[in-house]
Amino acid sequence: MWTCTTCGQQFLRNNQSHSCLDKTEADFLRGKSEVTVGLYQHFLAQYRTIGDFKIHPSKSMISLAKNTRFCSVHQLGRNFLDVCIPLPKVFPDTLCFHKIGHIDKQVNHYVRFYDKEDLNEEVLHYMKMAYDLDAAKAEKQSTQPS
Ligand SMILES: [Zn+2]
Repeated sequence: MWTCTTCGQQFLRNNQSHSCLDKTEADFLRGKSEVTVGLYQHFLAQYRTIGDFKIHPSKSMISLAKNTRFCSVHQLGRNFLDVCIPLPKVFPDTLCFHKIGHIDKQVNHYVRFYDKEDLNEEVLHYMKMAYDLDAAKAEKQSTQPS
């Protein structure tokens, strides 16, 4: 585990490139509607029922990280919240994702919340999957000779 001395973020790899103190959470929330801020807080609260994590704001998004970044809040819209959940494969038969995109081996699944009820059991299921994947990655890393 490597800790950046500037921003205090932890990474599995030494000198992992990352955005360092570009923006704060407050920068993202400034000027946003009550609805959007409420959705954001609801999303974090729901994710905390799965497990603990830290928030890492960067230039364009707010990442959620435990050992690695396992999820990100992509956009705080006027009355909605866009979240990206990276999963190990494509899950096409879902109702919750409006966009699915590949980046290397990970498949980004995008979900948009307009209402707190949009964060339903289906979304929670995939949120947990992304969170568990992070733990699995950390375990793999720790058993590899460095
Ligand atoms: Zn840093």
